[in-house]
Amino acid sequence: MTIQQPTLNTSPEVSDEVRQTTCYMCACRCGINVHLKQGKVAYIEGNRDHPVNKGVLCAKGSAGIMQVNAPSRLQAPLKRTGPRGSGQFEEISWDEALSLATKWLQPIRDKTPEKLAFFTGRDQSQSFTSFWAQNFGTPNYAAHGGFCSVNMAAAGIYTMGGAFWEFGQPDWDHTKLFMLFGVAEDHDSNPIKMGLGKIKARGAKVIGVNPIRTGYNAIADDWIGITPGTDGLFILALVHELMRTGKMDLDYLARYTNAPVLVNADPLSPNHGLLMRAENGKQLVIDCNTGKPTAFDQPGVRPDLSAAYRHGGTTHRPVFHLMAERYMDPSYSADAVTERVGIPADKIRRIAAEIARVAFDEAIELDQEWTDFRGETHAKMVGRPVSFHAMRGISAHSNGFQTCRALHVLQIILGTVEVPGGFRFKPPYPKPPEVHPKPHCKVTPGKPLDGPHLGFVHGPDDLALKDDGSPARIDKAFTWENPMSAHGLMHMVISNAHAGDPYKIDTLFMYMANMSWNSSMNTSGVIDMLTDTDDNGDYVIPNIIYSDAYSSEMVAYADLILPDTTYLERHDCISLLDRPICEADAAADAIRWPVIEPDRNVRGFQSVLCELGARLKLPGFTNEDGSQKYADYADYIVNHIRKPGIGPLAGFRGDGTDTGRGEVNPDQLDRYIKNGGFFVEHVPDGANYYKPWNNKYQDWAVKMGLYDSPQPYLFQLYVEPMRRFQLAAEGHGERQPPDHLRERIKATLDPLPIWYPPFEDSHVDPEEYPVHALTQRPMAMYHSWGGQNAWLRQIHGHNPLYLPTKLMALHNLKDGDWATVKSVHGAITVPVAHMAALNENTVWTWNAIGKRKGAWALGEEGSEATKGFLLNHLIHELLPPKGDGLRWANSDPITGQAAWFDLRVKIAKATSPNESQPTFDALKSPVGVGPAELTWKVSQ
Ligand code: SF4
Repeated sequence: MTIQQPTLNTSPEVSDEVRQTTCYMCACRCGINVHLKQGKVAYIEGNRDHPVNKGVLCAKGSAGIMQVNAPSRLQAPLKRTGPRGSGQFEEISWDEALSLATKWLQPIRDKTPEKLAFFTGRDQSQSFTSFWAQNFGTPNYAAHGGFCSVNMAAAGIYTMGGAFWEFGQPDWDHTKLFMLFGVAEDHDSNPIKMGLGKIKARGAKVIGVNPIRTGYNAIADDWIGITPGTDGLFILALVHELMRTGKMDLDYLARYTNAPVLVNADPLSPNHGLLMRAENGKQLVIDCNTGKPTAFDQPGVRPDLSAAYRHGGTTHRPVFHLMAERYMDPSYSADAVTERVGIPADKIRRIAAEIARVAFDEAIELDQEWTDFRGETHAKMVGRPVSFHAMRGISAHSNGFQTCRALHVLQIILGTVEVPGGFRFKPPYPKPPEVHPKPHCKVTPGKPLDGPHLGFVHGPDDLALKDDGSPARIDKAFTWENPMSAHGLMHMVISNAHAGDPYKIDTLFMYMANMSWNSSMNTSGVIDMLTDTDDNGDYVIPNIIYSDAYSSEMVAYADLILPDTTYLERHDCISLLDRPICEADAAADAIRWPVIEPDRNVRGFQSVLCELGARLKLPGFTNEDGSQKYADYADYIVNHIRKPGIGPLAGFRGDGTDTGRGEVNPDQLDRYIKNGGFFVEHVPDGANYYKPWNNKYQDWAVKMGLYDSPQPYLFQLYVEPMRRFQLAAEGHGERQPPDHLRERIKATLDPLPIWYPPFEDSHVDPEEYPVHALTQRPMAMYHSWGGQNAWLRQIHGHNPLYLPTKLMALHNLKDGDWATVKSVHGAITVPVAHMAALNENTVWTWNAIGKRKGAWALGEEGSEATKGFLLNHLIHELLPPKGDGLRWANSDPITGQAAWFDLRVKIAKATSPNESQPTFDALKSPVGVGPAELTWKVSQ
């Protein structure tokens, strides 16, 4: 009998059209090819020509198809009809929605613009949304950096004019030793995976420092399960060891950093600790050729690392002296820190020796001539092939800013920044803080704000304070409480607005920020604040406008919902003015465009802002005749001019051949689409290392419009603006901090990196709460966005609390048991699982997997809502009372970054409550519950 084989088509046509755009399943912004069949998304693959991912696509990226078909997508504008939180809405037209928003916002703009608080979450259009807010005239604008990673960004920019991730990358082609600190797997996802693959194939060594061994740390050759919050101490112990053994790049320090810059060393001087400067403001060094103080950038200057200078009765010492005094101190020795950091002293010494060996004994040289800003030509480019990368794990602590600074100091003394094999900036970086704007907060009713909201302060004069010294901003950014809060403090907006401290607001306007759930500390407290009423029965926060593409937990607490599109249905601009997609060797930007049309009554949020701006007659959004200036966001992307010749997109300007600077090109978006959705301009040969000091790079950056003039600068091991705040706290100057903050400013705003214990350690009893509790973001999810995705839910449908072996045994727990976890603020009861590769005093879980019943169109019995949970219930935005009559913020005292990872808990075995605790009433969702199975066919 013959066997009948079925005839199978093993290579079916995947699509009848491919459209190229940019992924938005996380913030990496990979290029994607979207395969369409009969106008519907059939398949998504990576774009092999794209500079970010070169064809690589992660699980999230390919699951985008389920994101654009998710049942949780909002369908139409909504107006609240029941009480806040009831989920009772009626669908309204866009005209009605925008009329209502205008009715609320116009009187505010005309009389008290600061009564609008406009904050956006993880969107990528901040140069646009900040422009809108600036035009409105409110000082109350920021994005989510304050609760994410401002410590990392600000510490990098203040120290060396750039930071990790979007600002820079390891030199994957040359590095021989790569060290990761506190990196979650969803940040910089594909680029790091590709880089790790590259260096591992070459035999380079990877050292992972993280209390938790997952993801990147799981493939590290050496994993260091450090005690949470002690990274800064470990890093400074490495600095101690390198200094003690003389393993520093002294030539690099002398030429390119402020190590030789002179510091006023007279404690009685009102300028004590300030840098000595020439009349033109340039920092002064002693020139080895003349023995005289000279501006650092003069031709032929050879800065002296050791010479002191006495002038007008005052001794000035080089920064390097102060560093040696500080870090050679035995308190930073491996033996002194070992217990606290949880790493054997010998291991600390061994790692320092290994870093030094690779940096100096395995140094590399590229045969590439270059000329520095002093006019000296170098025959070769010398490389120290040790590179570092760090993210939220070290920055989301109350000592995070100084810890990130410490890591940069370590990189710099090794001479491994902007050299072959080290860490390299991506355009538009390097960019020192002086080139960034300062914060602006001057409000004039009916007029735009006096400048950009966010920026970099250089001393007390730049704080955002009113004439009476009170905070100008609702989040109290740029005040004495957190003077260098470069990204604002989104996590404090709702609690401050509720408390009317520093003042009350009228309208809270938010975009992509799930503040009533995983984006807030103290989740139930925030829900209470959003629903609280005053003596008249009116809401304490009178109006809430919210825009999101999905029925998230926040939707139920808004009064007006402006439904956004998904990322495949919209225009977007990944701009050099914002968070670009550049590589160390190239400037690059990209777009999104509607590769499919929305099938619902939704609009891209930025396009909505164009119309709302025109209705409010904001000057930047209105023509002289009063008509709407930009029809939509696409129109803005092409036609907006930020500075002469500079617009949101750098590519195909003018007649299509201009790059960086050029006139508006009406065909610009078409050119991007034809080019695969992106544009790349390579850094010329000879300009791609030593960028802050390399004449060729500086000239190229000016041509590209990244700077207006060459901006060579020194890395700031010693950050003088911090010293200016300390001086004020010591009583110098006219702008003075309140007395209760003086000691904290003196102690924490040290211009050289220090380590101090996380604040929670001194506000709770570490004996009673002996365990550290952390969250991590998984590779397969991006915050809460992935939890509704039918494919990704199958990877992370719930999130056990992982316990190390010691704690599992101590509490007699086994996988699947339940435990109650208590902090000083709250308690949760959750399922547990054993994980051996974990710091022995740390527990952790995946972030934002837990969902509230009724949200995201998930069924109430879904595992996210029954076995999933949030650690947020255990964390408060304020530290517990300490008996001094004050409630201190649970934030970094320098930048205000939320200290998510300072959390301490205690654990006890619990009987199974069947569902994770606490439970919340189910939300009534405007989109209902999705079907049990999601099936559809895109074609025959
Ligand atoms: S790494 Fe992020 S941007 Fe890239 S494919 Fe994955 S989800 Fe998309």
